[in-house]
Amino acid sequence: TQAPVNVTVTGAAGQIGYALLFRIASGQLLGQDVPVKLRLLEIPQAVKAAEGTAMELEDGAFPLLAGTDIFDDPKQAFEGTNIALLVGARPRSKGMERGDLLEANGGIFKPQGEAINAGAADDVKVLVVGNPANTNALIARSHAPDVPADRFTAMTRLDHNRALAQLAKKLGVPVTELKKVAIWGNHSATQYPSVQHAEFGGKSIAEAVDQAWLENDFIPTVAKRGAAIIEARGLSSAASAASAAIDHVYTWVNGTPAGDWTSAAVVSDGSYGVPEGLISSFPVTAKDGKYEIVQGLEIDEFSRTRIDASVAELVEERDTVQKLGLI
Ligand code: NDP
Repeated sequence: TQAPVNVTVTGAAGQIGYALLFRIASGQLLGQDVPVKLRLLEIPQAVKAAEGTAMELEDGAFPLLAGTDIFDDPKQAFEGTNIALLVGARPRSKGMERGDLLEANGGIFKPQGEAINAGAADDVKVLVVGNPANTNALIARSHAPDVPADRFTAMTRLDHNRALAQLAKKLGVPVTELKKVAIWGNHSATQYPSVQHAEFGGKSIAEAVDQAWLENDFIPTVAKRGAAIIEARGLSSAASAASAAIDHVYTWVNGTPAGDWTSAAVVSDGSYGVPEGLISSFPVTAKDGKYEIVQGLEIDEFSRTRIDASVAELVEERDTVQKLGLI
């Protein structure tokens, strides 16, 4: 039988962690034949809560769960890890400037990058969920010089899934009919959910819906969905975020179907005018355990403007963390 895959989850006692851990334990992260060992990282004040979650994981009697360990030290938590899900982050509090938020997160993602560099398994794959996810991933990556750049990713799969759901509803088709939807740029309100190349049942989505609906309804609905859920639920969209994290890693390991792609924030190679080294969302395919940016797409004028605006925000965030000495 296969040795368990080590999965480290930070912020394990948080809301997303609570939804995520049970799905990992049940085999949905990697597949139904892959045993997993969970390594939970929390800040010292939250270790006790993480222990409670670990008790519940034990009580799930999951056949694929080979054990759960809890740490408050990143060096230990990332030792030998194959999959690192960086969920814990400093939440935006009232009156906090963006620079303060980035600085607080630098204090979290710098040591985590260093710990991944020092001790993670050679095949480590990192997904950053904690916001601002793209720039937190950039910080972690810049402190892990020995880890190949393409192992650091940030999550825009929730935005991708939200876009699929809105389009399926609008077109009256199941999500399985939709192909080649893409999220570009930052996981923030400036993100650009694009249907320029998207298809449903082989037909063009861009031709089937009008531009006014895309601009005034679809794009803002996808970009502001998180706020709408907080408004309705009184709590953030933790379960759908956890579900998207599962999808992101599952696809990374198991691949995208032929003729389709998904969205993920990956290190830019300069494609589509996105400055090299930025962690920005692109349409990506996955094969043999690697995400690759889909190449050679024609970008229309509307898309160009939207992509540039979101990328400009990423450049600003990068410049801020650079000035703060975090990268
Ligand atoms: P959540 O589990 O709800 O969220 C964690 C992070 O995910 C936040 O940065 C949040 O961003 C982000 N996020 C990304 N996408 C979404 C989405 N769709 N919906 C909601 N959140 C999203 O936060 P909790 O406060 O419940 O838990 C955080 C835990 O992390 C705490 O237990 C804390 O102790 C821990 N922590 C651990 C650290 C560590 O291990 N070193 C460091 C810091 C915190 P946003 O803020 O924008 O909502």
